[in-house]
Amino acid sequence: MSYKLPLTATFIVLIFTSAIASAQSQDWRSGIPWEKPPIITLGPKPGDPPSDAIILFDGKNLDEWNGQWEIVDGELHIVPGKGQMSTKRKFGSVQLHLEFATPSEVKGRDQGRGNSGVFFGPYEVQILDSYNNETYPDGQCASIYKQTPPLVNVCRPPGEWQTYDIIFNRPELKIENGKVVEVIRPGYITVIQNGVLVVNRHEILGSTAWHKPPEYEPHEPTLNIRLQDHGDKLRFRNIWLREIPDVNVRPAPTREPYFN
Ligand code: MG
Repeated sequence: MSYKLPLTATFIVLIFTSAIASAQSQDWRSGIPWEKPPIITLGPKPGDPPSDAIILFDGKNLDEWNGQWEIVDGELHIVPGKGQMSTKRKFGSVQLHLEFATPSEVKGRDQGRGNSGVFFGPYEVQILDSYNNETYPDGQCASIYKQTPPLVNVCRPPGEWQTYDIIFNRPELKIENGKVVEVIRPGYITVIQNGVLVVNRHEILGSTAWHKPPEYEPHEPTLNIRLQDHGDKLRFRNIWLREIPDVNVRPAPTREPYFN
């Protein structure tokens, strides 16, 4: 009996070794020569811009903007009647972060309460006080205006800071003689509000006008990002973006897939 245990143990070790070797030989590789993703660094707090972000507003100045809103205590305040704010630079596909607060003093109703908006060129992600404020669903806060309501209403009460993380994939339009003759690739918008997914890769149907159906209209490949003055005193802070590829790029394999 005394020699059987070591023999059994040896046998078990052999089985495990051969299982590991077999698992290693099953490690499938695609044959695509992927580049190593660059390392970026995070800010100290959630919502802070990562190291590859373009800072649009950090409370200090309006160097990145055209428009006449005011900086008050490091916040960007709408001055009703002064018109929109528009980025000086134009962007294609981006991940945009911004924080907003609708007025703590609740006035008006429906579309007349805490209305603003984030525009990527002609495409609006609605900002509205939708906390106990009825309006048409595809016009409430976080809707793609008159194209889709958000999946859920996750609005904080008036006056409280809220976050938007928006992924905008620009459309590719074929334009001839000032007209869109073909939508080569529609645009897409994803919205995360206060950490919750509310719009999941919505296919943009065209410009988001209030007075006519959506339709793609000619525009340049890159667009100004604009914040709407709809007459209400909203506040903004911590606005940054990251430029991203228009589509997922999958390089051609340089060899057949293989088991490593
Ligand atoms: Mg609006």
